[in-house]
Amino acid sequence: MPDRQKDRLQGSLFIISAPSGAGKTTLCNAVLEYFPDMRYSISYTTRKSRAGEQDHIDYHFISKGEFKKGIESDRWAEWAEVHGNYYGTSAEFIARELSAGKDILLDIDIQGTMQILKRFPGSITIFIMPPSVDILRKRLEKRDTDSEAVIERRLQNAEAEMTQKGRYRHLIINDRLEVAKKELIDLIATYRH
Ligand code: 5GP
Repeated sequence: MPDRQKDRLQGSLFIISAPSGAGKTTLCNAVLEYFPDMRYSISYTTRKSRAGEQDHIDYHFISKGEFKKGIESDRWAEWAEVHGNYYGTSAEFIARELSAGKDILLDIDIQGTMQILKRFPGSITIFIMPPSVDILRKRLEKRDTDSEAVIERRLQNAEAEMTQKGRYRHLIINDRLEVAKKELIDLIATYRH
């Protein structure tokens, strides 16, 4: 079946990736507020929750043991190890929502994006860039939720991730938040109408 025809029967997958600190969470929330019928795929992670994060809302926080069992039982549509922790997307959630005709927003890293693209080649991939690494460092420091060592690791990872941006279909630079929000919503709207 041609992709377009299939997309009309099934929902579409919108994948957003960005180095941490690029403003992705705020942008994803703006998208979900604007399109209330869109579903957000709440990832499973073995990372500890940060201050202010809520279990089953921001992430499903699970143990490494449970995560690894999930790998064996094909529970994840994709999974990756990021900054020393495991992150995965529920295969069951994706299958259920897509077949109900719902569009899904995924906030996953590049490793996960490549896996999803193999299974769902029609997915719309969007990479959010910070204006510069310096600004990214300042944002991470201001967030004050991670230790210096963790920030360094995230920055190194961010630089590596940014070299992969060409693998995404769309690129949005989050220089001014309000502008980036509008750009992202307008972009998603072109696929949804
Ligand atoms: P954080 O720990 O800052 O919330 O997320 C770290 C990284 O993991 C981000 O790049 C985020 O997009 C990615 N991530 C979050 N959930 C998933 C997931 O389910 N799968 C994959 N592959 N990456 C994820």
